[in-house]
Amino acid sequence: MNNKAFYLETFGCQMNVVDSERIVELLGGIGYRQVDEPDQASLILLNTCAVRDKAVRKAYGHLGRFKPLKERNPQMILGMGGCIAQQEGKQLLKEFPYLDLVFGTHNVHRLPELVQQVADTRVRCEETEFLDRETRLQLFPSRTGKEAFTRFVTVMQGCDNFCSYCVVPYVRGREISRPSGEILDEIRELAEQGVREVTLIGQNVNSYGTKEKEISFSALLEQVNAIVGIDRIRFTTSHPKDLSDELIGCFGRLDKLCKHLHLPVQCGSDELLKAMNRGYTRERYLNIVARLRQVCPDIRLSSDIIVGFPGETEDNFAATMSLLEQVRYAEIYSFIYSPRSGTAAADIKDDTPAKVKQERFERMLTLQQEISRQIWEADVGTVQEVLVEGESKMGEGQLFGRSTWNRIVNFSGPAELAGRLVSVRISKSFRNSLLGELLEYC
Ligand code: SAH
Ligand code: SF4
Repeated sequence: MNNKAFYLETFGCQMNVVDSERIVELLGGIGYRQVDEPDQASLILLNTCAVRDKAVRKAYGHLGRFKPLKERNPQMILGMGGCIAQQEGKQLLKEFPYLDLVFGTHNVHRLPELVQQVADTRVRCEETEFLDRETRLQLFPSRTGKEAFTRFVTVMQGCDNFCSYCVVPYVRGREISRPSGEILDEIRELAEQGVREVTLIGQNVNSYGTKEKEISFSALLEQVNAIVGIDRIRFTTSHPKDLSDELIGCFGRLDKLCKHLHLPVQCGSDELLKAMNRGYTRERYLNIVARLRQVCPDIRLSSDIIVGFPGETEDNFAATMSLLEQVRYAEIYSFIYSPRSGTAAADIKDDTPAKVKQERFERMLTLQQEISRQIWEADVGTVQEVLVEGESKMGEGQLFGRSTWNRIVNFSGPAELAGRLVSVRISKSFRNSLLGELLEYC
């Protein structure tokens, strides 16, 4: 076993992806190198997600897999971070006697010291305290080093929305936004390192800067749009209630802003939207969609949908189905409601049988698959601009990239095109990707 080698598994959303990048950087700073196999590691870390029970069970399943390793090698340090760690805290140490270290979502920066402390003292430890706003502001990631043409840039963290089903506000804390100057500096630096596309991320980017009296999110986008070297901008996640007219206008105005918006609606029934505490009605949501399409006719939308929220009737579900037909999302991410302890919805009576929820879920998938198929098939024969991300897994001479609509496009071409925008004629549409032929490039 190598002395200072770590193995890291990341679950969940982009926020965890960015936190894991930070973990890699911080551990590198104390001499740890990352390895691909857990049995080569002296430190194993799981960065976890708590948003649904399935994600929690998956993380516990993986943790259990490391138990025999730990038994064989008691010197190895096993740690858990992320949203489960934040929610469960010390309890995890009680439940899993082979776990050495628990660190919360606000404590990633402390990881080097905590690891060192456990290594020196062999005393198991837990740190899941929420930090105050000022301290957190100091700790926003500013990353360097990783070679990639596309990167996530955190603009805000936390969530104040308290949708009734959601654990995020409890495990990520209150919203705070990063100073715009810092964000822009980071993006300029990334552009200098060769990054071509940035995705601005946060739990609720549309409310960026409100508390801090910062510039608006649309003003921030405008400034990112002006950065030389950056070719494409995306952002996620957007809450429909905070999508301003100014921001909608960006899709018509900013040439680098990709024509794709993930705008989770969750469901199509006003009664359930209210119970979910989403802060908009079906009509208002559809109005936003209409305005987006007015300023950018070929914008494509995606959404998250929850099926089987407590009390969902067949009529409520029919409203979600009709909304899918009306909006025609290019893609949806759908989930069966998963009760989260401590959230408001966990106390609502839920008498819909699991079988009924499953059957609704499948009906919805069938409908959406057909809508998505129609949308992506219509791309066959069109020429699309693709940002080449690198060689694909499909073999030598095969490249992949993404269209403005965030669709993976595979095609043949020379490896040196990585990082460039090229034109590709689409020849075939598959369930999760497109195939095309490279046209001339300059
Ligand atoms: N901040 C983002 C979403 C974060 S969670 C937003 O508001 O869009 C990602 C998705 O998980 C949510 O959009 C929702 O569809 C789903 N989700 C959250 N809590 C859930 C729960 N308890 N059960 C099922 N799905 C849930
Ligand atoms: Fe959860 Fe709602 Fe916040 Fe999204 S906006 S993270 S769904 S509480």
